[in-house]
Order: sequence, then C-alpha cells, then structure tokens
Amino acid sequence: MTLRILAGRLLTLLLWQLVAAGTVYFLVGTGHWAWMVLAVVMAGVWWLLLDVWKATRLLRWLRRGALDMPPAQAGVWGEAGDRVRRLMRERERELQTSDARLQDFLAAMQASPNGVVLLDAQGRIEWFNQMAANHFGLVPQRDLLQHLVNLVRDPVYTAYSASREFDHEVVLTGRVSTPSKPVRLSVHMHPYGEGRSLLLSRDITALEQAEAMRRDFVANVSHEIRTPLTVLSGFVETLQSLPLEPNEQQHYLGLMAQQAQRMQTLVSDLLVLSRLEGSPVPGMQQWMRVDAVLQLCEQEAAELGRVLWGKPHPLVFDCGPATELAGVESELHSAIYNLIGNAVRYTPVEKTITVRWQRLDDGSGLLCVQDEGPGIAPEHIPRLTERFYRVDRSRSRDSGGTGLGLAIVKHVAQRHGAELRIDSVVGQGSVFSLLFPAQRVRNPLPPSSDFSDLRTTSAAALQ
Ligand code: ADP
Repeated sequence: MTLRILAGRLLTLLLWQLVAAGTVYFLVGTGHWAWMVLAVVMAGVWWLLLDVWKATRLLRWLRRGALDMPPAQAGVWGEAGDRVRRLMRERERELQTSDARLQDFLAAMQASPNGVVLLDAQGRIEWFNQMAANHFGLVPQRDLLQHLVNLVRDPVYTAYSASREFDHEVVLTGRVSTPSKPVRLSVHMHPYGEGRSLLLSRDITALEQAEAMRRDFVANVSHEIRTPLTVLSGFVETLQSLPLEPNEQQHYLGLMAQQAQRMQTLVSDLLVLSRLEGSPVPGMQQWMRVDAVLQLCEQEAAELGRVLWGKPHPLVFDCGPATELAGVESELHSAIYNLIGNAVRYTPVEKTITVRWQRLDDGSGLLCVQDEGPGIAPEHIPRLTERFYRVDRSRSRDSGGTGLGLAIVKHVAQRHGAELRIDSVVGQGSVFSLLFPAQRVRNPLPPSSDFSDLRTTSAAALQ
C-alpha cells in the first residue's frame, strides 16, 4: 500500500516537474507555448484520473459493507473513508447496546412469575416466556407466528379475544386441569402500539383454593357458633315464658352453661390457631421438661374423664428417661393435651389409655398416645387435621369437641419440626404419635452447669 502511495507521489512530482520545465522553457523564449499547454493538460488529466481512482476504491469498500479498514489514501477521499468508518463503528456500538438492552428486557420478562405473550396486530404470537409456554402448552419452534386463538382452545378465551373488550380479565381452566387437581388461569389482554397486544396469564389456583377455604372456614365458624346460640336462646325463651320449678330452672341453667362453655372453647381454640399462624417459628432457646408436662396432662386427663364419664379411665403414663424438649411450653402442652383429651373423649371409660414418651436410637423423641377406643376408618385419617373435620359429629359435640383439636396439634408439630402420625384400626383403637427431631431433644443439664438455661427459665417465669 505504501509503495503504491510512493509511486503516486513520484508520478505527481514528475508531472509538476514537467509543468515547471515547460514554463521555464517557454519563459526563456526557447520553447514553444504549446509545450506548456500540453504539460498543464496532462497534469489536469492525471489529477482527474487519480481522483476517480480514489473515489472508486472508496465506493468499492463501502459496497463491501465497510466492515474492514477503509483503503489507505491521503486527501479528501481518505478523510471521507475515515469518517464513514467512525460513523459505522458508532452505529454498530449503538446497535449492540440496544440489542443488549432488548435481551435484558426479554430476560426480565422471562423471569416474570406471570405468563407473557406478545401478539402482533393480527393476533399472531411474536414472543412468549417460559411461564406462558407452561400455561398454554406453547412450543417456540412450532408456535411462533401462529394465531394464539387457534392454540388456546378454551371457549372463554375465544369469546374474550373476539369481543375485543379487554378492560377486564377472564378465568380459564388450565390445560393440565383435572377434577381432582384443578388448575385455574387468569388471563388479561393489554392492547398497545398499533394494534399489538400484551397478554398476561397468572396461575390463580392457590388463590381460588385459599378463597374457597376462607369461605368454608367462615361458614363453619358461623355454623359452630350458631348451634349453641340457638340452643341458648331457646332456653332463655323457655325460662322467660314458662313458670318453672326451681329445680327445673337449675336444670335449664346447667344446659345453658354447657352451651356457653362450648362457645367459649370454640373461641379459645380459634384464638390458639390464629396465634399459631401469626407467631414466628419457635427457636431453641426455651427447653421444657417432658415429664413435667406429662404429669400435668395426666391430672387433666383424669379430671376430664371424671367430667365426661363420671370417673377417670385407667391411665398408663410412661415418661421414659428424663428429657427436655426445645420449644414453646404452652404450645407443646396444648398439642399433647389435645391428643390425650381426644383419647379420653372417644374411649369408653373402662378401656385403658397409654401415654408413652421414648428416646429413639437416633436421638429423636417419640410421644405416643394409645387408646382402645372405636378406632378410625382409613378414609377419614388423611382429613382428620382439617379444621372442623369430624368422623362422628354428634359424639364430638357431645363431648365438647370443637373439631379444631387435631388442626392445632398439626400446627404445633409443624412449628417444632415434628411429625404427627396417626395409626388406627376400627374396633381396636388408635395411636396418635408426635415424632420430634433429635436437635429438639436433649438430656436435662445439671442445674449448676447451665447458667444460660437458668436465665431462660427465670425469664419465662417472669413473662
Ligand atoms: P374434636 O374436637 O371433634 O375432637 P379433633 O380435631 O380433635 O376435633 O378431632 C377430629 C376428629 O377425629 C374427631 O371429631 C373424632 O371424630 C376423630 N378422633 C380424634 N381422636 C380420636 C380418637 N382418639 N379416637 C377416635 N376418633 C378420634
């Protein structure tokens, strides 16, 4: 390249020398003026040819896409080539930046927990994220540029798309929905640009289930409260309207007290549940003695037996080796007492109830409450921990059950990393067990060696 430039320069120099020689020749009067004209014309032609040649090279470079270096040449054409190359570079950098931004934007849409589909003015799919692919069963290689309405075969969506009224969302049945495992999708179209649309889809199955559960819960609570209230107001009416003997009055007042007690138990169980749901998971700072809690439960079980059956059941309490359990004492007591209370309620009074605490080889702790009661049919067992689920409604109510006891037990168990197991054989009895993980179970420390423990115990006592 430099050789070519050198040759060009030499040729130019030669021509100028020719022009100069012609001029001198003419001025000293020895030459003919035609020599000078010829020299000037030749120089002009040379410059013209040189210019055309440079322009052609630049043009050829531009036609190639101006991707490599421009032809090295001096003068105006060289500078033009340089400027074009700089402009091209700037443009390329801008394109790269905007492409990176587009990729970022698409990655953000890809990360969206909602399904996103971009549709063109004809309703054809331009882009969709993985969530939308899951919701509608779309495959990128197959479905891009297809009409979405042909792929989502739900009549609700077809009508929604045809109506072009997109100020509200519609709820579709998911494509993998089954009667036992329903899937519900909320779909909302948002028009933008020139006839384009952005379709957002959301899996609202859990939301709908929670809403249904809330409705059921409110209906159940209302029902549970209404029943004793109706009975109570009936007795009030009787007392107001009938001239009763004092002993009859006492009888009715006793029945009224029972109903009031039932409502009180229900409200207190509801409060326990809501407190359990709202409070943080218990840590490992507080430790309680298992035998102390079991002794308290034994007294309470005997008392409940006396109230319900006129005398306590034969109770066998095996507290095992002295052990401590990490957690909230009031919650653990409530869970254990609920299991023992159920055994007392549902077991005929002459049958034995056995409560056993043991430390397993792996360090975990197992509490078993065994009764010789009526047992529970297998189909009921998975549902026993649902709120207000009862196998025998009237028996539960007669014995003061709220239908919330096992729901409380399950909650407490979950909060303490424990597992609730239910084994039952109809006609033979049931075993309700709580298995606590090894890290929540320990041998009691000698009092003098554990000052921190003393501190937590006294702090708990002060509360
Ligand atoms: P409840 O307050 O009605 O006892 P729970 O949630 O404690 O509510 O128990 C749910 C249902 O499980 C009870 O209504 C009862 O039908 C059944 N159940 C619980 N424990 C026993 C048991 N030890 N023996 C037989 N049935 C039981």
